[in-house]
Order: sequence, then structure tokens, then C-alpha cells
Amino acid sequence: MRLVLLGPPGAGKGTQGDRLIERHGITRLSTGDMLRAAVKAETPVGLKAKDIMARGDLVSDDIVIAIIDDRLKEPDVKNGFILDGFPRTVAQAEALDRLLAQKGIRLDAVVELKVDEGALLKRIETRIAEMTARGEAIRADDNPEALKKRLDAYRSQTAPLSAYYKAKGDLLEVDGMAPIPSVETAIDEGLKARKAAV
Ligand code: AMP
Repeated sequence: MRLVLLGPPGAGKGTQGDRLIERHGITRLSTGDMLRAAVKAETPVGLKAKDIMARGDLVSDDIVIAIIDDRLKEPDVKNGFILDGFPRTVAQAEALDRLLAQKGIRLDAVVELKVDEGALLKRIETRIAEMTARGEAIRADDNPEALKKRLDAYRSQTAPLSAYYKAKGDLLEVDGMAPIPSVETAIDEGLKARKAAV
């Protein structure tokens, strides 16, 4: 199973992604996690990305495409993967198409979690409170200013991917405002229906 999870910050990509990787035995490829690891390790990519990420802006397409290109060469993606946070621009989606075509594979679906923007700030506030209560470090970009930038970036650069994948017949739209188990069921049923239709 090869999937892309699409949705703004706070849409539930983490929660639904966890469940999908468990259920299908696939690997999560999160460019956000990979970039945060690079920032922590102070690699050349990390040093370039650090301030951009803290502001809530997008890192350049070249950097993330190179990261995904490398990651797709690892053996653990053979059983399938879920891309979380990539692609985020049409240029990245086109690059992904080329990378997959070179490998002779294609996506099974692009799952879009559709959410009401008004609820997102509240969800992120809850996430920050829960992480603080668990004594976990808060992300540098989980603050109101960076969040506003992240939502702006999503609206202007990532939201067009919905039409991009719809035109290809890959899009599975799910109501991300529903309770977590209902979202899970909607994703499962949508994926099953797509498989049956092939
Ligand atoms: P995320 O964990 O997916 O919310 O990503 C956190 C931050 O990492 C984003 O706000 C961007 O600065 C950067 N980032 C992650 N994935 C990408 C991507 N595909 N393209 C550009 N920037 C990215």
C-alpha cells in the first residue's frame, strides 16, 4: 500500500498515519520528522532548514525532493509507505510522480483529511498542552505566529494538490472533523472501495 496523507497542520495526519502504518505494516515517511532530525543533528540540510521551519515557511522543493529520493531507496519502503507532509507543492507532486515512475510503482491513494480551519488552532493548542503535560519538548513551530504561516502556506501552496490528485483519480476525501474512529472507518472503507474498483 502506497499512500499520501494530505491535510493542514492539526488535521489528524499523525493519528491516522499511526493507525495506517500499524494496520498495513507500512513505513511512515514524514519530511517534517526527517527535517527535524536534520536540524537536531545540525547537518548541512538541518542548518539551512532550521530558521525556515521555525518561522512556519516551507523549505525549498529541491531539499525535500532530494530527501525523499534518498529515502525511497531504502529497503524498508518495499512493503509500502505513507507519505506524511510530502508533497506540499505541485512541483513536489510532479517530482514524486517522476520518482515513482522511475521505480515502476504508483500511489494507491491520496487521503485528504478535510477540516474546518477554525478548529485547527484549538487542536494545536490541545496538542501543545498534552505534550507539555507529558514533559515532551514543544516543536519550535507550534506557536500562534508560526502556525498562522503554516496555515497560509497550506492554503496557498498545498491545497492545490487536492485538485491535482482529483484530476488523476487518486483522491480519497475524508471528513477529518468526525470522531477519530469514524475517520479511521471512512479511510478503511474508501481504500477498500478503491481496491475493489481496480
Ligand atoms: P510537518 O511536521 O509536516 O508539519 O512539517 C514541519 C515543517 O517542516 C514545515 O512547516 C516546513 O517548514 C517543513 N517541511 C516539512 N515537509 C515539507 C515539504 N514537503 N516541503 C517543504 N517544507 C516542508
